[in-house]
Amino acid sequence: MKRVTVIGGDGIGPEVVDATMHILKGMDLDLDFVEADMGLVSFKRTGHYLPPETLNILESSKAVLFGAITSPVTSDPCYHSPLLQLRRYFDLYANIRPCFPILPEYKLVDLNIVIVRENTEGMYTGLEREEDGKVILERVVSEKGCRRIVEKAIKVSKVMGFNKITCIHKANVLRKSDGLFRRVFYEVMEGSGLKADDMIVDAAAAALISKPKCFECIVTLNLYGDILSDEAAALTGGLGMAPSANIGDHFGLFEPVHGSAPDIAGKGVANPSATILSACLLLEFVKMMDAASSLQSALVQTLNEGDRTRDLGGTLDTMKFAEKVSERLTRH
Ligand code: ATP
Repeated sequence: MKRVTVIGGDGIGPEVVDATMHILKGMDLDLDFVEADMGLVSFKRTGHYLPPETLNILESSKAVLFGAITSPVTSDPCYHSPLLQLRRYFDLYANIRPCFPILPEYKLVDLNIVIVRENTEGMYTGLEREEDGKVILERVVSEKGCRRIVEKAIKVSKVMGFNKITCIHKANVLRKSDGLFRRVFYEVMEGSGLKADDMIVDAAAAALISKPKCFECIVTLNLYGDILSDEAAALTGGLGMAPSANIGDHFGLFEPVHGSAPDIAGKGVANPSATILSACLLLEFVKMMDAASSLQSALVQTLNEGDRTRDLGGTLDTMKFAEKVSERLTRH
């Protein structure tokens, strides 16, 4: 039986994860769920943001369902984001964010895409140094990094039924680094059976709004993907509805795009939809396709029949909403 670690984390993290687990436990899945700690609450309790026991549990798991963590506001030089540590430790090089509208009234544009973003290089290497009154950042784009993210985008497109991949870059200015990415993109796409094109990132930011139908799968570098995927999330339903997957070759971390939302934490009002959709991605990752699609259908049906949390104009609390999704699942 495959093991899945479950980490609530901080703020609304434990609430949205508990709600999602309520549904998953009712699905009688052949998965061994094990709970673990990570984040600021864990630090206050154990002195570790990422306790060694958690790392042990993660190492014996295939995937983790994760809520959110709060980063300390003061710039503590000892603080290293446990999420970034996990991305590096497990080499979770692909960040995958499907963006499609579920709620008709939130459909600002006709967008149905997946963004596959390189997760370990680019602007987010963390290689910053101070020198002669300047801060210098090393922005890394490697041939290996480009090749494997494009290969992952091809796999994801085929699984999700997309026929075209658009490479988004800034190679007109960053000629060597983004030029490498663009060149490798076209090389890897040869023989994939999928259509390939490319676009400059600033034009892509506008086209997501003005010509949304020209996109299917987007493959891009770390910073561009970070920004474009929040734009796409805002266009298709907002933070409470946006799931994400961080995937390596052997391990995956699945989490909602939103953070720990301290303003609503502990009130039981958070919308767990993004976490439930992240659980759907996790189920696909462990090859439980039918379970993933039933869960997604039950969620969509629940929302469309008007059972919603407060952020979407409803009255249900986080757990009541999960119970409604569970009821629809057992009805099928
Ligand atoms: P962090 O510092 O952990 O990133 P944050 O509050 O700055 O937290 P988010 O957690 O992304 O950022 O939340 C932004 C706002 O969106 C919050 O003020 C919250 O009210 C709202 N929000 C985020 N997630 C949800 C959710 N699941 N349900 C309802 N509202 C949400």
